[in-house]
Amino acid sequence: MVELDRLRALSAKVGSDPLLVQAAGGNTSLKDAGVMWIKASGTWLKDAQARDIFVPLDHAAIMAALAKDDPACESCVAFVRTDLNSTGLRPSIETTVHALMPQRVVVHVHCVNTIAWAIRADGEQRLAEKLAGFDWAFIPYARPGLPLAGAISSRMRPGVNVLVLGNHGLAVAADTVEAAEALLARVVAAVTRPVRPAAAVDRAALEKLCAGTPYRPARMDETHALATDPLALQRGEHAVFYPDHVVFLGVGVATSFENGPPLVAVPGVGVLIKDDAKPAIEPMGRCLADVMRRVEAQDHLTALTEDDIDRLVNWDAEKYRQTLKVT
Ligand SMILES: [Zn+2]
Repeated sequence: MVELDRLRALSAKVGSDPLLVQAAGGNTSLKDAGVMWIKASGTWLKDAQARDIFVPLDHAAIMAALAKDDPACESCVAFVRTDLNSTGLRPSIETTVHALMPQRVVVHVHCVNTIAWAIRADGEQRLAEKLAGFDWAFIPYARPGLPLAGAISSRMRPGVNVLVLGNHGLAVAADTVEAAEALLARVVAAVTRPVRPAAAVDRAALEKLCAGTPYRPARMDETHALATDPLALQRGEHAVFYPDHVVFLGVGVATSFENGPPLVAVPGVGVLIKDDAKPAIEPMGRCLADVMRRVEAQDHLTALTEDDIDRLVNWDAEKYRQTLKVT
């Protein structure tokens, strides 16, 4: 299908931009002849052209189940069109977001600039200024699955094609891949924030710190900003501001080797990654630094609560995603 091939190309492009997507985060979908093709749980958008990462679902069946608050919507596995599913994979844990947007193409990203607004206590009001002229809605934070579906349903209006998900990210929708890409670019341009420059990294000092340990310096300069930016660690060390942070890095950020965390931010020096850390760890560390470099000292932020974190990490669909080697 030509449009699905176009979506694969856009997915790979979006998935290769660390300011939009990190590791297995973000997902895209296409509705065609009653089938909703969506990125599989735990796969990376950047791989969309290298391998088959799309799972077919019965869209009408999901919508009927959502109308009844059916618990099957938590994973949406029951709605997979097994007759068409060549991968055998499960659908994204964020499938309900895509189902509820009526447009054919939906692109959901963990856009760093959007998150930098969406974690602010005054995020909705400030975004209203930035997104004036867009048909958009702000969705207060809710765990993906049924809770997020309920939050979207209660704020959805006809014509809305941009959703900002509080403490989470952005979704845009259109009837063609080309139009979705153009809309994404317009929204990102509207919400782009100034970024503090990342400090230079002393790689020799980092190598010395790692000698004889199962750690290595982070590969990307931007990741080290988590330890060297004056505000990044201060804001992120003890709190969680969006789901993928806690899912991959745990609560806050480790600043010592104690207990062998996958990522250690050595204050003022740089970030170290454990040799056996999942490939998602460094992109997630960089994402936190990228978000926090777009937040100022006076900005009042809203962190996820302990209950939010419990509901997320103990959610079965999320546990499944964590068992996948690809993440
Ligand atoms: Zn998401």
